[in-house]
Amino acid sequence: MQTDPRRDLAACIRMLEANKILDYNGHCSVRHSDSAFYVNIGKATRATARPEDICLVTFEGEVLSGNGTPPLEFHLHAGIYKARKDVNAVIHAHSKWSTYLTMARQDYLPVFAQGSLLYPMPILDTPNSINTKGMGDQLAQVLRERPACLLKSHGAVVVGSTLTEAFALVNYLEENAERQYHAQMIGTPYQFSAEERALSQQKLWSPGLFQRTWDHFAAKLQSIN
Ligand SMILES: [Zn+2]
Repeated sequence: MQTDPRRDLAACIRMLEANKILDYNGHCSVRHSDSAFYVNIGKATRATARPEDICLVTFEGEVLSGNGTPPLEFHLHAGIYKARKDVNAVIHAHSKWSTYLTMARQDYLPVFAQGSLLYPMPILDTPNSINTKGMGDQLAQVLRERPACLLKSHGAVVVGSTLTEAFALVNYLEENAERQYHAQMIGTPYQFSAEERALSQQKLWSPGLFQRTWDHFAAKLQSIN
């Protein structure tokens, strides 16, 4: 991780795109203050995101600095930052595996240790875009104090106290959903018990492990480029 939030966000977006979690429409943000946040501009090419692709906007969407305007779904970030003082980073992806679960009305199950950190998983029961203040507030109400939420037939939202944490958690979420999908093809997946989930939480909810996850994907991206 670097110290410039714009550099960190650009790296986060490139890594999530390379890992097929983010597509050409996803967006990631970092809180700047109680009234503004950094987010990628809507027109940014995610695969090649650079610090210049990040703008600073108010919770109302007014651009304070940057080379473009935020995505139409900036309300998703604003709604969460207003409701959650503990959140400093938000990731929204139209991620495939977790979206398959909501398309098929399958609950997200704790089938994988890291993925169990995100269980239970709330679901926003509409596929509509989060492109109004009302939708942003509705999403925040569904998310409540949880680290992640699925949006029916749309995607996922993951939050963190840091960008590194949110980045690790969205990877865990998607990997869990992929493993669950495949396990359900061949049988009934094993679900972690409450005790096993508590143990995972105790051992795996760690800034050091979140950083290791970030470093893993950062190294892979460097080896690609
Ligand atoms: Zn979306």
